[in-house]
Amino acid sequence: KAKQEGRNNYQWYTNDLNLRLRERVHLRNELQKAIETEAFELYFQPKIEGCSGQVIGLEALLRWQHPQMGFISPATFVPIAEDTGQIIPLSQWVLETACRQLRDLLQQGIAAPSVAVNISTVQFRRINFVKSVQSALQKYQLKSEHLEIEITENVLFDNTEKAIEKLQRLKELGVNISIDDFGTGFSSLSYLKELPIDTVKIDRSFVQEINTDSRDAAITQGIISMAHHLRLNVVAEGVETEQQFKFLQQSNCDQYQGYYFAKPMPFEALKQYLMDEAARELP
Ligand code: C2E
Ligand code: MG
Ligand code: MG
Ligand code: MG
Repeated sequence: KAKQEGRNNYQWYTNDLNLRLRERVHLRNELQKAIETEAFELYFQPKIEGCSGQVIGLEALLRWQHPQMGFISPATFVPIAEDTGQIIPLSQWVLETACRQLRDLLQQGIAAPSVAVNISTVQFRRINFVKSVQSALQKYQLKSEHLEIEITENVLFDNTEKAIEKLQRLKELGVNISIDDFGTGFSSLSYLKELPIDTVKIDRSFVQEINTDSRDAAITQGIISMAHHLRLNVVAEGVETEQQFKFLQQSNCDQYQGYYFAKPMPFEALKQYLMDEAARELP
C-alpha cells in the first residue's frame, strides 16, 4: 500500500512540475512580448522619515499588467527574467524610466526626493553595471544623490571581493546603497563592516509580527542597534499598523515604508501626492 501511495505522490509531483514548467515557458514568452512593447510601468512607494514625518525617498517598483492574465507580481516574473536573461533589458528599462520620471518631476517644479531602484543580482554582476548607472544619470541630467540602489545580500555570494569593489565605485559616484530584505539572507554578518553601504532595510517578515512575537521584536531591535553602531541608516519595510510604527519608533528606527503611510502608486498619483505633501509642510 505504501508503494502505491508513493507512486501517487510521484504522479502528483510530476504533474505539478509539468504545470509549473509550462507556466514558466508561457510567462517567458509573454515577458518577451512585454519587453518589446514596453508594457511595464513603475509604481512609487514613499519612504518616510520618523522624526519629521517627511517623505525622504521613493522606491520604484516594477508593475506588469498582462492583457489577459491581469496583474502579475514582480516576485513571480523577476526570477523568471533572471533565469532567461530577460532581466537585462528589463532592468535597463527600470533604471532609465526611474531616472526619466524623476527628471520630469523636477522639471515640473515638484519637490521630489531621491528614487531607489531595486537591482537584480544578475544585473549587478554585469561588467558594465556601474557604467550603466552613470550613463542613466548623465542622460537625464540627475545628480548622483538623486539615485539610490537597493541590493540584497545575494550579490555578495560569489566573488565577494569583486562585489565590494563595485559597490565602492558606486559609492565614489555618490549613489546611496541599501541592503534590502536585511536579515533574510544566509550570509555572515561580518561582511557588513566591509561594505560601503548607507542603509539597511529590515525585511517585512520581521515587522509583520513585531507586536505579537517577541523573537521578531528582538531581531528587529538587534538589527537597529547594530546598524546604528555601524553608523548605518535603518528603514523598516512593510509597516502596516500604528502599533508596528510605535514599536519601531520606540526602537529608534530611522525611516519607514509601508501601507500605513502610503501604498506604491502610479506616476500620476505620485505627482499629486508630492504636491499635497509640499503644501502640508508649508507653515
Ligand atoms: P522589495 O524591494 O523588498 O519591495 C517591497 C515589497 O513590499 C513591494 O512588493 C511592496 O509593494 C511591498 N510592500 C510595501 N509596503 C507593504 C506593506 O505595508 N504591506 C505589504 N504586505 N507589502 C508591502 P512588490 O512591488 O510586489 O515587489 C516585490 C519584490 O519584487 C521587491 O521586493 C523586489 O525584490 C522585486 N522588485 C520589484 N520591482 C523590481 C525591479 O524594478 N527590479 C528588480 N530587480 N526587482 C524588483
Ligand atoms: Mg526594495
Ligand atoms: Mg525589501
Ligand atoms: Mg522584502
